[in-house]
Amino acid sequence: MFRHIIIFGATGSVGTSTLNIIRRNRHHFNVVGIAANTNVEKLAQIAHEFSVPNIGVFDKHAFAGKDSLFKRGTHFFVGEDGLCELVQLSEAVAVLMAMVGIGGLKPTMAALESKKTLLLASKEILVAAGKFVMESAKANGGQILPVDSEHNAIFQCLLGNGNGFVDRLILTASGGPFRNFSRQEMENISVEQALRHPIWNMGKKITIDSATMANKALEIVEAKWLFDVPGDRIDVIVHPESIVHSMVKFCDGSVIAQMCPPNMEYPIANCLFFPERERLVKPSIDFVEQGKLNFFAPDATKFPHLSIIRRCLKADSNACAVFQAANEVAVDEFLNHRIQFTQISEIVARTLDIYPGEPMTSLKSCEESVMEARNAAKGIAKGFN
Ligand code: MG
Repeated sequence: MFRHIIIFGATGSVGTSTLNIIRRNRHHFNVVGIAANTNVEKLAQIAHEFSVPNIGVFDKHAFAGKDSLFKRGTHFFVGEDGLCELVQLSEAVAVLMAMVGIGGLKPTMAALESKKTLLLASKEILVAAGKFVMESAKANGGQILPVDSEHNAIFQCLLGNGNGFVDRLILTASGGPFRNFSRQEMENISVEQALRHPIWNMGKKITIDSATMANKALEIVEAKWLFDVPGDRIDVIVHPESIVHSMVKFCDGSVIAQMCPPNMEYPIANCLFFPERERLVKPSIDFVEQGKLNFFAPDATKFPHLSIIRRCLKADSNACAVFQAANEVAVDEFLNHRIQFTQISEIVARTLDIYPGEPMTSLKSCEESVMEARNAAKGIAKGFN
C-alpha cells in the first residue's frame, strides 16, 4: 500500500476515480501533492478537501494570479521544471501519473530517478519513450504498476508466473460504439455519437480513441514495454461486455484472465493497495446474471489503426511515437468538426508515409520526432479541411 502519494492529473477522469477511492479509505492515504495541466480551480477544491500542501500546474498562464485560491503556506510547483521538482518530494513514496499527453514524460523520468514507485496511467509516456522509461526503471530499481485496466489485468495474471513462460498476451477491447457499423456508416459518424461510449466513462480524447480502436493500438505498444513481450506476441480480441480485462496465455496452454466490473476504480485500487487489496466489499460479477461472455476478432479494415501500429512495431524506429502524435492531432481536428471520423486513421497513415520516425537514440530525439510528426499531421489535416 502506498500511503504517501502524489497524483498527477488529479483533475481528470483517472484522478477523480483515484480520489473516490482515497475518500472512502481516508485513514490509509495521505495525498502529499497534486498536479494538473490547467484546471487550477478544481485543484484548489481538491487541495481543500484532502488538505494537500503541494500543488503543481503545468501551464504557467493558467496558474497566473490564482495562488489566492489555496490556503496560506501552500507550496507551488509551476511549469515542467516545477513538476519535476514536485515528484521528487521526499515525503512521497509513490506517484500516480495520469496526465493526458506526454506532458508527464519528464516528471515521470524524474520520479524514477528519485526511486519513487510509479503508478502509471498515461500510456502516451510509454508509447513515446517506453525504451527510456523502462531503462530508467531498471537502472534505478524503480517499480512500475500499470493502472490501465488491460495492463493491470495482465500484471495481475503474471503475479507468481515467470515471464519466461508467457506465450501470448491477449488484450481485450470493448470494440467501442461502432463495432457493428458498416464502413460507409462510419464516414458519417458525428462527434456527439463518437463521444458516447457504451461501457466506459472516460475523458474525450480516450473515448474517441476507443471508437477508432487507436486506444487498443497504443495499448499493444504499452504492453510491449511494460511486460517485455514483442508486439507480434500481443493479440487483440473484441469482448463487448468488458468483463475480462485481458488474459495471458502460457506456454503450457493455460490461460489466466482477470475479471471485474468495467470501472477504473478496480485497477486503480489494485495499484494503490498493492500488494494488499482494498478490504471494502465492492460489487463484483454475477456470472449467472451475466450469462454469456462474447469474443470476436477485430475488423482491421474498419479499424485501420490496428494494422498501422503493427507496421510501426516492426520498424526499428520511433514510428509508434509518430503514430501517437499524428493521432492526437487528428483527434483534435475531429473534435473540432474539421475532419470526418474515418479521416483520423488516414491522417495517421499519411503522416507515417512522409515521416516514418527516427532511430531511438535519445529521449530528446523522441521529443523532436513528436514535434515533427505533429507538424506533418497538421499539414495533412489542412488538406482535408
Ligand atoms: Mg485501457
